[in-house]
Amino acid sequence: MKAKRKSPSRPSSKARATHQTKRVEKAVAKAQARIPTAFHITVVRFTAEEKLEAGCQKKLMVIERTVRGDEDSWHFVLSFDPVVSERVSFRDLVKVAGHEVLHALLWPIADAVQRRGITEKQAEELARAEENIVYTLQRALFGEIRA
Ligand SMILES: [Zn+2]
Repeated sequence: MKAKRKSPSRPSSKARATHQTKRVEKAVAKAQARIPTAFHITVVRFTAEEKLEAGCQKKLMVIERTVRGDEDSWHFVLSFDPVVSERVSFRDLVKVAGHEVLHALLWPIADAVQRRGITEKQAEELARAEENIVYTLQRALFGEIRA
């Protein structure tokens, strides 16, 4: 009788998602080593809703403030899509994480400007300027993102 061969099993989607969370946590730690801040960053996977409205990094990851805002202003939540991160090299994950950390670093400037009251058009200009600064710093500190 022929022995039944067990087919090579592919890790479950939950195991793969957990693995991706660990990869992104490591990428964030590495990015933070290049940009020393007192930030505490919690890594979570996107909810389906967040997936639809993700930010500038091609729906890979986005950093946000916590709901506690000013009371806990150095704590951020970095959400990511484990399906997308699976296809991205660790090197590029570090670059994208660095990009997101740089955004968080610049937010106090935008906050100060916005508190003075600006038009929607000025807010858009400010966001574009921030994005250009972030890309410039990201390239200087981490290199170009090829993902
Ligand atoms: Zn950006």
